[in-house]
Amino acid sequence: MKNHHVLLLAYAAQGHLNPSLHLAKRIIAAGGRVTFATTVYGLRRIKSLPSIDGLSYASFSDGFDDGYRPKESSTSANISDFRTVSRQSINDLIQTLSDEGRPVSFLIYNIVLPWAGSLAAAMSIPSAFLCTHSATVFAIYYHCFNTQNGVYVRNKDCDEKVNEPPSLIEIEGLPPFSRQELPSFLLPSDPYHSLVSTFEEHIRVLEEDPNPCILLNTFDALEQDSIKGIRFNGARLFAIGPLRQSASPDNKNPTPADKLLRCDLYDSSKEYTNWLSSKPDRSVVYVSFGSLATLKKNQMEEIFNGLLSSGRPFLWVIRPPKDGEEGFEETIKDKLKEEEGLIVPWCAQTDVLGHTSVGCFVTHGGWNSTTEGLTSGVPMVVFPQFSDQITNAKMVEEVWGCGIRVRVNEEGCVEREEIRRCVEMVMGETERGATVRMKAEKWRASALAAVGDGGSSEENFEAFIERYLPS
Ligand code: UDP
Repeated sequence: MKNHHVLLLAYAAQGHLNPSLHLAKRIIAAGGRVTFATTVYGLRRIKSLPSIDGLSYASFSDGFDDGYRPKESSTSANISDFRTVSRQSINDLIQTLSDEGRPVSFLIYNIVLPWAGSLAAAMSIPSAFLCTHSATVFAIYYHCFNTQNGVYVRNKDCDEKVNEPPSLIEIEGLPPFSRQELPSFLLPSDPYHSLVSTFEEHIRVLEEDPNPCILLNTFDALEQDSIKGIRFNGARLFAIGPLRQSASPDNKNPTPADKLLRCDLYDSSKEYTNWLSSKPDRSVVYVSFGSLATLKKNQMEEIFNGLLSSGRPFLWVIRPPKDGEEGFEETIKDKLKEEEGLIVPWCAQTDVLGHTSVGCFVTHGGWNSTTEGLTSGVPMVVFPQFSDQITNAKMVEEVWGCGIRVRVNEEGCVEREEIRRCVEMVMGETERGATVRMKAEKWRASALAAVGDGGSSEENFEAFIERYLPS
């Protein structure tokens, strides 16, 4: 790789930072230098930044440098401000890097920053879009918004423009997606519906690029039909995932970079490691809803009681409450014995999933969590909250078969008995449980093969480097 300097832009959400950082590491291992940039406030919040030769950090403004966000920060007007401010700030960053004698030769931008792609084109810098959602979800956005035959319905007669997806979306090779199975942002009723304009813009920016390059955090065998469903003219698509903590959970000798390669937004102590090690193989239920979703108190109580009644030990990540609020663990601490379960504010999730004692992952189905569960061969119970998680849950259950979805009651709550039923379903001695575990093992092997020597993701990554960052 000929002295390339890549600017890698990621929005400051844990699910965007992690895969981007892994990509940075791979580019550096291939001989390039990377400046990894996220928002001003996001960079300040990261608890520890991995230090690797060839990697430097920078930030850009999104208009909320002190972290304060008005409640309505995802309205169209605010997204428009976000676009204007961050585009200018990224422009300034590129200029500064150039003035410092480190001109950017390639730009990689992430989800919710589509305008970085058009900025790169305007500055004659070649670029790639790193899709940190699944290929299926991106294929759905493509299906909705491409200008040739996009199926999203626009109701322009209303004052407040109402957009909605059709009742069914079909991607060849996959079961059809009903409205309830689509990424929630597509639905006008979703509180974050305005964000859909950023996905629409992603499609437009890639359509306008005569040579669009898309990096997908997935692997060919997992999502080949969906990858085929993304049909930009002349696009080069490289499935290079799963981009995760260590290329292999079997990696018994991680390099210092493997170990350090975390940039958590939350503090974690490793108190749970001994607890996990005290449990029999495949006996523990690991529960986490990622870095963004918050559950109502009554929903937490249902989960808690469901886990207790399963009789299986559980490790549950409950992020610290906001200032002044009472944390859920406070309300149950007298009811929970240590041998029954442990609640932690954050953990090194990939380490936990790779631990031999973990036998089930109750997850919200964020794309990173899904690929991490899959790569670890841990069967999943998916309880999606919003965004792409809803579609991922369908894929886990119906297409990949390595987990099941919970059923919600009429109030949208998952009751304790349902939690118990699902945990029993994937961990118990039933035919369904055995099939789910067998599929989980199959996908684990397949994911490891993809990222191993000569695997599809390895080869795709090399092809990307050869084409865009050659020596
Ligand atoms: N994660 C972690 N520790 C935790 C909970 C989550 O390291 O206690 C990481 C997890 O490994 C994943 C990311 O946070 O890489 C969450 O991303 P995901 O796409 O699953 O969900 P999001 O947080 O974006 O909803």
